[in-house]
Amino acid sequence: MSNLDYDLFVIGAGSGGVRAARMAAGFGARVAVAEDRYMGGTCVNVGCVPKKLYVYASEYGKGFTDARGFGWEANQPEFNWSTLRDNKKTEISRLNAIYRNLLGGVEADLIDGRARITGPNSVAVGDTEYSAGKILIATGGWPHIPEFPGRELAVTSNEIFDLETFPKRLLIVGGGYIAVEFAGIFNGLGAQVTQLYRGPLFLRGFDEDIRHHAAREIAKSGVDLRFDTNVTSIERGSEGLQVTLTDGSVIETDTVLYATGRKPNLAGLGLENVDVALNPDGTIAVDKQFRTNEATIYALGDVTGGMELTPVALAEGMAFARREFGNMDAAPEYDFIPTAVFSQPNIGTVGFTEEQAREAFGDIALYKSEFRPMKHTISGRDERSFMKLIVDTATDRVIGVHMLGPDAGEIMQGIAIAMKAGATKAVFDNTIGIHPTAAEEFVTMR
Ligand code: FAD
Ligand code: NDP
Repeated sequence: MSNLDYDLFVIGAGSGGVRAARMAAGFGARVAVAEDRYMGGTCVNVGCVPKKLYVYASEYGKGFTDARGFGWEANQPEFNWSTLRDNKKTEISRLNAIYRNLLGGVEADLIDGRARITGPNSVAVGDTEYSAGKILIATGGWPHIPEFPGRELAVTSNEIFDLETFPKRLLIVGGGYIAVEFAGIFNGLGAQVTQLYRGPLFLRGFDEDIRHHAAREIAKSGVDLRFDTNVTSIERGSEGLQVTLTDGSVIETDTVLYATGRKPNLAGLGLENVDVALNPDGTIAVDKQFRTNEATIYALGDVTGGMELTPVALAEGMAFARREFGNMDAAPEYDFIPTAVFSQPNIGTVGFTEEQAREAFGDIALYKSEFRPMKHTISGRDERSFMKLIVDTATDRVIGVHMLGPDAGEIMQGIAIAMKAGATKAVFDNTIGIHPTAAEEFVTMR
């Protein structure tokens, strides 16, 4: 038995850290996990989970109106922000306890506090120093607000869930996942939402058709979408915040949400005490086995960049533990990772965009479908869905699937399995549809 305190010291009890710790302990390793804010990390506390709960809340807004076409009469419903916020808090506290128990169940030691690496085999939390054979950095990311006058008046996704009062007017800056999701949430909850994006079309990196259709549908839903613009300053005014834009115009709003990306959470981590190299964007550089430059130190999840998604951090945590403590040749597969933007309507996507597919395969075939969802033929809601299949002509393999429409995230999970299995267009065509669904379009497009 080693005379070190632990075989593995994990820094960060988020998606990746908890998964790695639990599995390593399951393989018999002596494990400690340090966490300085909240059990479960970003996803559970200020990410996926509260976000999805707020998406559900916001969908009711339009649901009440939709229901009228189906015969339901209701007085003007009222939304109560503090009820949603407080119920969310209760649910997150329940999840925090579950995460704490998960580690207790495998007898990993949980150490509350901010961890600082003091050497290749040592970590300090407060005044106590611990020794470990291996150190795993799973500290995730932190919202980034660029420099400009008045930036301290903006909030980020860390604060938006728990605002004291509901913002009747909300200005959102950014054109990625978080900006688009929160535009939908607050629009649905009844706020007057303006979303600014610095480029000509938001959701950079997604399929071009999806980006165009999403912009059209989101604008129709009531969000004031403004492209090719940015904020130059924010000041406090008598009636709220005065936000000046690059064209000199001024928007008055109650709250400004900055959703302009996240940076690796490395503050106070003590990297100066070890030989851990960083990538040019500031994330921790690792090889395929999550090894940093320092032989005893590993890193995974958002802090290493790549696709910043919970299931990716989970897969990495699992592969790390299997390889280092389970003696298995494990590595996550990064091809065909499905992802959803819980915008309204949803975006679901897996595989190559049209632009990437042309570049990688040359000759491709495209199948597209645009339609009004059946529900809205009677609800009267002016919303259209869009679906797209991209096929490699040489092999007939389906290499990209993209959707904008209700439940796109749910639908895309199953499609991703087919694509991982190498499904061809012929396989899609030979699959019998489920009627009447939107998803059946994917097997009937010709
Ligand atoms: P994290 O979950 O961020 O965990 C890192 C932990 O380390 C934190 O708890 C932090 O407090 C702790 N920590 C940091 N430094 C120290 C230190 N020095 N000492 C001790 N503890 C430390 N992904 C999805 O797949 N689907 C979604 O719908 C989704 N929605 C999101 C919505 C929002 C608003 C945000 C912000 C993110 C969302 N994500 C979503 C992304 C997802 O949350 C992250 O990819 C995931 O949490 C990354 O896991 P991680 O383990 O790398 O880091
Ligand atoms: P993203 O990287 O997705 O988007 C950041 C946005 O901010 C981009 O539109 C970017 O523009 C813009 N931007 C960056 N810098 C500036 C600046 N200085 N001024 C103005 N605009 C700027 O980050 P998010 O913060 O939205 O989300 C972080 C990550 O969290 C996501 O990438 C995703 O991996 C994860 N996430 C996942 C979700 C899900 O799975 N549903 C939900 C929420 C988050 P440009 O494109 O021009 O660079």
